[in-house]
Amino acid sequence: MRTVSLPSGEQVPCLGQGTWMMGERKDQRDEEIAALRTGIDLGMTLIDTAEMYGDGASERLIGEAIAGRRDEVFLVSKAYPQNASLTRLPRSCEASLERLGTDRLDLYLLHWRGNVPLAETVEAMRALQRAGKIRHWGVSNLDTDDMEELVEAGGSACVTDQILYNLARRGPEHDLLPWLEDHGMTAMVYSPVEQGRLIGNRKLTALAADLGVTPAQLALAWTLRQPGLIAIPKASTVEHVRENRAAADITLDEATLAQLDAAFAAPRERRPLEML
Ligand code: NAP
Repeated sequence: MRTVSLPSGEQVPCLGQGTWMMGERKDQRDEEIAALRTGIDLGMTLIDTAEMYGDGASERLIGEAIAGRRDEVFLVSKAYPQNASLTRLPRSCEASLERLGTDRLDLYLLHWRGNVPLAETVEAMRALQRAGKIRHWGVSNLDTDDMEELVEAGGSACVTDQILYNLARRGPEHDLLPWLEDHGMTAMVYSPVEQGRLIGNRKLTALAADLGVTPAQLALAWTLRQPGLIAIPKASTVEHVRENRAAADITLDEATLAQLDAAFAAPRERRPLEML
């Protein structure tokens, strides 16, 4: 699996696993755990979750899936904005650790910006790092101006901004992705297949058929065309996980990229960062 370098030099896979909506249905639990374990076996060892997902159910599911193999995994979780304060973040983190059955997170993110001042969140993240509860910290859904503010608030050690970016949502190409690259921060791309909606797209389906790949693979290979990006598709079946893993080995040629540009044009003007 191709890797992406975090600012510290640590390598993480360019393709990880999302888990929103997983762990919520008893009848799908075994399949979801099998899917996550297959992903780990195939090198998709970065697993993304959040305290919000299923009110902790996603974290519990992951805890079960990684039991006995914690050290193989790069675990990412996220805190609600209202919990990103000096007093509340330690409690949120502790609860996530307990549900995940681990003593540390590899990466802890502010899920989106709320009312807690960014400087306070930075301080709270640093305190968790000093306590050994988290190894790295970052943010999610912060646009370029928020990122500028974050750095001014002392947050230059942020390792990633987890953002919505896919063929149908190319706004970040205008200034956010270049800003992250300039500041040595990794972009972690969520909803890379637009929660499944891209898969039925007629133009994408036709192009994928010409290339002999699936639409999901083409959409994923496109997000991974740019070195330094991490994509975290969610797949709750073993079959989807295997299909997605193979996308990390697909290199798109210039002609295909041009066809995708024609079918899914990037906006000409700057657009505010979208979120799901
Ligand atoms: P996504 O990964 O773009 O799409 C997930 C959907 O696509 C699921 O319905 C899945 O079906 C389907 N799918 C995946 N691979 C497929 C394949 N090979 N063939 C056919 N269908 C396939 O959307 P997402 O879940 O919103 O985003 C991914 C992850 O990013 C989330 O799970 C979460 O961890 C994170 N996220 C973060 C934020 C944030 O605010 N920071 C927001 C949204 C998402 P099955 O489940 O049936 O496999």
